[in-house]
Amino acid sequence: MNALPTVVLDIAYAVECLLVVDLLSGVLHWAEDTWTAPGRSKLLDQYIVRDNIEHHRKPGLIRAGDYWATNRVCIVLASVAACVMALCGVHAWEAYLIVAFASQANQVHLWAHSANPPRWVATLQRLGILQSTAHHAQHHKRPYASRFCTITNFLNPVLDRIMFWRGLEWLFVQCGATVQRATPARGGY
Ligand SMILES: [Zn+2]
Ligand SMILES: [Zn+2]
Repeated sequence: MNALPTVVLDIAYAVECLLVVDLLSGVLHWAEDTWTAPGRSKLLDQYIVRDNIEHHRKPGLIRAGDYWATNRVCIVLASVAACVMALCGVHAWEAYLIVAFASQANQVHLWAHSANPPRWVATLQRLGILQSTAHHAQHHKRPYASRFCTITNFLNPVLDRIMFWRGLEWLFVQCGATVQRATPARGGY
């Protein structure tokens, strides 16, 4: 009798977890596009900054690497997060689902640049549960300042409408941060 509501609730929680990862992807992507510059940290340059600049110069190159090359940074970071959570006694399955989704963030981004993703992925893209190619393509168009979230089609319209990223950038600049844009058309590299 209670099985259905429990399943429905679990699905709702899982969708919530996906939206949390969508927001996280947006924050990290916005931070990469707005504040990172090469030459400050060899580690960041090798694993994040150069790849990010390259992606905005040639978006299609994201499909060139194999699965590990595409996802290694997210998988390693997610694994570390999962270990820390386990050591701290975190038991909530939602926390681990968030980490699992996050470990595949770049894969979802890659599918948003693929003309022929797997059929199940294409179905989820049509539903907006995974980000569609048409939706993500807007990020790679002028003024290169919207649709920073890369997991679903749901958060970007809301965040862009309320000018969330511009507000955040303004706040950081007021606090003394210096803008270092990754996207050439926005004054970057
Ligand atoms: Zn970007
Ligand atoms: Zn992209």
